Amino acid sequence: MENFNIPETMKAMTLVAYDKLQLATVPVPKPGPGEVLCRIKSVAICGSDPKMIHGDYAWTNWPPYYPFIMGHEWAGQIVALGEGVNDFKVGDRVAGEAHVGCGKCDNCKKGHYTVCLNYGKDGHDGGLDMGHRHYGFYWQGANAEYNVYKTSALHIIPDNVSYDVAAMTDCAGVAFHGVEMAGVTPGGTCVVIGPGPIGLCAMQECKALGAARVIVVGRGAKLEKARELGADVCIDFEKEDPVQRVLELTNGIGADEVMECSGAADSPMKACKMARKTGKVALIATYHAGDVMIPANTVNFNELTIVGSKANPNVSEQVLHFFSTGAIQGDKLVTHTFPLEDYEKAVDIFEHKKDGSIKVVINP
Ligand SMILES: [Zn+2]
Ligand SMILES: [Zn+2]
Repeated sequence: MENFNIPETMKAMTLVAYDKLQLATVPVPKPGPGEVLCRIKSVAICGSDPKMIHGDYAWTNWPPYYPFIMGHEWAGQIVALGEGVNDFKVGDRVAGEAHVGCGKCDNCKKGHYTVCLNYGKDGHDGGLDMGHRHYGFYWQGANAEYNVYKTSALHIIPDNVSYDVAAMTDCAGVAFHGVEMAGVTPGGTCVVIGPGPIGLCAMQECKALGAARVIVVGRGAKLEKARELGADVCIDFEKEDPVQRVLELTNGIGADEVMECSGAADSPMKACKMARKTGKVALIATYHAGDVMIPANTVNFNELTIVGSKANPNVSEQVLHFFSTGAIQGDKLVTHTFPLEDYEKAVDIFEHKKDGSIKVVINP
């Protein structure tokens, strides 16, 4: 067994107020029963991270306190085991999930642990600790040299997958959960709206599941990236009407499935309008405009199925396999890497899509 020298303190990037980040020296956390200590190697910045920094989640408990360590799309190495851990060993390379359900409620028992009925019940408020965790959102995250995780959040990384790519397990999994919920018609036509990191993963996943043709709706460098990664048709929504174009491409019938990954307020409407009768629409994005319009009569008359998709339950093993086989070309999605000290710069490049950035990864 490898022996790791674990220090008493570590560097961590902390959020100390909205729009205020600070590099701090904090204690290295100790793993409790069923938990392990991980040396964090890579953390990918998620679309939700800049929003949390700006205070866009003030309506939730994210962040729950200051200073708070964010970061939830991560990969690293296990360096110490807590009491009773026998499913992992020191030295294992692992990728993390943000959600750990309570394991006891009806939803968790059915496998739907990202919609755990005991969300947030961690005992912090003097209430019951039901064991729920949401790392990097209301529980300490990965923007640090070390963090402690329950082993149910962890998955072994295949040998040929790097830490930087494995850090996208969460992101690719969010895409894959939606893609699985909508289903993919083998030999059919899928549309992916919004070629950000999640949409680019969804596009490659639709192909892996047997779609004959994947149409991507977007613009700029990200649409070019979709083309480079194998999109069959790219529609620039600034130059043409995506609904009309999809109908043209499908002889007026519409797409079998539409994966809505853009989060634009008018995209769910468009997604429904470009789906075929009995088609499926997956809402994978988050809508910061709040409630958005759905064409109820189209849904009704065309017997559309709209599925909501929350995070990435039970898909990590599959997406790690996709990274390993190259079905998802992870190394083409990681465009930038930075040390922890440059986190603010990294967020700026990611958030403002500077320098052709797709996925920006921090190496603490
Ligand atoms: Zn994320
Ligand atoms: Zn639960």
